[in-house]
Amino acid sequence: LEEQVRSLQASTPRKYPKVKYLNYKNRKRILITGGAGFVGSHLVDYLMIQGHEIIVVDNFFTGRKRNVEHWLGHENFELIHHDIVNPLFIEIDEIYHLASPASPPHYMYNPVKTIKTNTMGTINVLGLAKRVMAKVLIASTSEVYGDPQVHPQPETYWGHVNPIGPRACYDEGKRVSETLSYAYAKQEKVQVRVARIFNTYGPRMHMNDGRVVSNFILQALRNETITVYGNGKQTRSFQYVSDLVDGMIALMASNYTQPVNLGNPVEQTIGEFANIIKHLVGGQSEVKQIKAMEDDPQRRKPDITRAKQRLNWEPKVPLETGLLQTISYFRNELARSDRFQEN
Ligand code: NAD
Ligand code: UDP
Ligand code: UDP
Repeated sequence: LEEQVRSLQASTPRKYPKVKYLNYKNRKRILITGGAGFVGSHLVDYLMIQGHEIIVVDNFFTGRKRNVEHWLGHENFELIHHDIVNPLFIEIDEIYHLASPASPPHYMYNPVKTIKTNTMGTINVLGLAKRVMAKVLIASTSEVYGDPQVHPQPETYWGHVNPIGPRACYDEGKRVSETLSYAYAKQEKVQVRVARIFNTYGPRMHMNDGRVVSNFILQALRNETITVYGNGKQTRSFQYVSDLVDGMIALMASNYTQPVNLGNPVEQTIGEFANIIKHLVGGQSEVKQIKAMEDDPQRRKPDITRAKQRLNWEPKVPLETGLLQTISYFRNELARSDRFQEN
């Protein structure tokens, strides 16, 4: 075996994307919980390329090894299969806490687990941050505003959430996550950053993600009916994933400790959005209205004044550019899954 391993290593040296060299003073050990998921894996790429040491902790509920496989074996990279509901003892300088299902069908699949992840999981992350004195950024969500009665939503709005509805496991879970963060900040002097993330899309979204961007693109690519839930007059504002990553990096680096909205303020009705995607993909899909989702927020658009002022951040990628990238990603994914089925 040793002989075989040696000859394999000699014949196929592993190649990696190029990373910057950082000396030990500037290089950080950064934990990314949920780093094998959609957003987390893009954050991994950014921070690896900057030259940091990255530790991903993920239970692979919705994440995939494939999202980070291009780093497996790199000396700056570690992937740990671990459920954040259980304590975690490692030594790190910074934490990006993203572990949580994010799409409604995923977080509603096991609501109790969603609550545990966002409460017990966040307590473990904050306990770890306290012990090692790490700075921690919590991935919160626009869902803390619920079905908002203030439009667009500034960070000062307290929200309008049904505490016992089907979305509550996620919405209230994230609200507790925020409460925990500020309790640990006040009582234990943990340095926290809270990002309230609005709808984000891009390559590496899961094929079965179930959120509107992946559903509509896949339906259009397969010439299937595009399913609008309800009358399609509800709105969302879509942000491309690279803009979100830039915002999270800026927030972590800043001194600002209050919650910050990270999202793209260009608002769309879901009905319009179906037509935009149909047009960009081409094809013969029909757009059809089906049963509305219970407690579906009717309007959502971030007020990003705070992010502009405090972080000097605003989204850069236009919707059409981001959607074309995402469509091309899903086209490849479909071809890949067809190849698997043939074999
Ligand atoms: P995702 O489902 O692709 O990623 C979540 C990751 O967390 C997955 O890799 C999953 O396996 C992992 N995970 C879930 N439960 C875990 C547990 N108990 N222990 C360890 N790992 C666990 O979703 P995403 O879109 O990348 O979202 C990432 C974060 O950003 C989430 O916290 C989500 O709530 C937040 N967020 C995302 C959006 C968005 O539009 N993408 C919007 C608002 C907030
Ligand atoms: N914790 C952890 N890793 C650490 C330190 C703490 O997972 O490095 C967990 C610990 O198991 C505890 C939680 O974080 O359940 C909260 O920690 P804290 O110190 O606030 O609470 P305590 O240990 O005093 O109950
Ligand atoms: N939606 C839809 N068809 C789908 C999936 C979602 O019309 O196939 C709607 C959904 O009802 C909501 C919006 O699109 O109004 C965004 O849904 P998503 O699940 O992407 O995220 P949310 O913002 O609700 O968490």
